[in-house]
Amino acid sequence: MSEVLVLCYHSVSESWPAPTSVRPGDIEGQLRDFLRRGYRGATFAEALTTPTAERTLVVTFDDAHRSVGELAAPLLERLGIPATVFVPTDYPDSGRPMGWDGYDIWLGTEHEQELGCMGWEELGALAERGWEIGSHTRSHPRLSRLGEAEIAAELAESRKVCEKHLQMPCLSLAYPYGDYDDRVVLAARDAGYRFAATIPRQPMPAFPLQWPRVGVYHGEEAGRIRRRAWTRQLAPHASARVALALRRLKP
Ligand SMILES: [Zn+2]
Repeated sequence: MSEVLVLCYHSVSESWPAPTSVRPGDIEGQLRDFLRRGYRGATFAEALTTPTAERTLVVTFDDAHRSVGELAAPLLERLGIPATVFVPTDYPDSGRPMGWDGYDIWLGTEHEQELGCMGWEELGALAERGWEIGSHTRSHPRLSRLGEAEIAAELAESRKVCEKHLQMPCLSLAYPYGDYDDRVVLAARDAGYRFAATIPRQPMPAFPLQWPRVGVYHGEEAGRIRRRAWTRQLAPHASARVALALRRLKP
């Protein structure tokens, strides 16, 4: 079984000091470090269906910040790594900043333009370059706080909008804030998603609709991310393998 490591980034900026914003030089150093260690890049859906390498690295970007198209895409192209972008589908071409809970403190500041979302044309251009565009719901709510009808609408409609604009299947989802419960997972399955990503705070086993990612934050060194990957993600994979092996041993 090959090893699949999924990193979760948000925005890329030289000057935005938000915890979720990573400098271009930092992300480049981090990715080069993984490439040196034998990882090969794939999109989230590719990695979970047909991992081609023994060590697969999946780079994901939540929220579809404009800076991802402007700064991260050329950089990743140079490194030969595709990525997966999770887009909150109410935002592209809306002209509205992504000023939800957590980002709202940047509204009205010199960094407000960092809250801009890519448009469908930019997202389509990334898809043409081999990137995967997944859903990040419509409006970026905390899904576990919603009623079942609202959860279903956020998941099904965002998938439909994504497919309509990009003319390709939308297979993957990232839960906003990594927030979900059993109802959300079932709704994701019913809405037709095959894969869903989260950001656990504790080690957890990996399932296609609850896939743990390793969050990367402002000013981190590659070594720190590797250590977190080991405790949060690779170790759970090992335990999932053990669980699988034990199940096979059962008469
Ligand atoms: Zn998000």
